[in-house]
Amino acid sequence: MASRNLNDCVPELIAKYILAEEKCRAIGIFLQIFCTARTVSEQVALWLQGRRPLESVNAARRVAGLKEITEAENRYCVTWTTKSAHIVDATNPLSRAIDFGLKKQGINPWDLKADTNGDNEADFDQVGEIMESVGLKWGVIGADGVRKDKGHVQLAS
Ligand SMILES: [Zn+2]
Repeated sequence: MASRNLNDCVPELIAKYILAEEKCRAIGIFLQIFCTARTVSEQVALWLQGRRPLESVNAARRVAGLKEITEAENRYCVTWTTKSAHIVDATNPLSRAIDFGLKKQGINPWDLKADTNGDNEADFDQVGEIMESVGLKWGVIGADGVRKDKGHVQLAS
């Protein structure tokens, strides 16, 4: 199963993430971790989501030991790569990426427009700026130049 444990990340990532998390807390934004390490079969199953029929996606999810998803969930993509920095294996046993979301009662943790600290700025943009300030790579810039995956950070190199 995919991990949510920060200790499954490389030490440099742990240090930078904790520092960023402190800086977020200082401006009233609280975070929670949704994923750190993933196996390659989990990554493949995630990549198929939104790109293949539900039957194929759920077959891959069973192989990876993930819960099956619904037709509605199969209408969108959740990852943009099969070579994710989350993937761990025998030679790279620790994740180089973290997926996070907002943490506040009654808030959708992935709401990109949420403003939980009430300063009229989208929290995700403030968090992203902080993540970059500690040297982490934030999100993924798509071919269209638009930043996607705003709940993802990874080591820069
Ligand atoms: Zn990620």
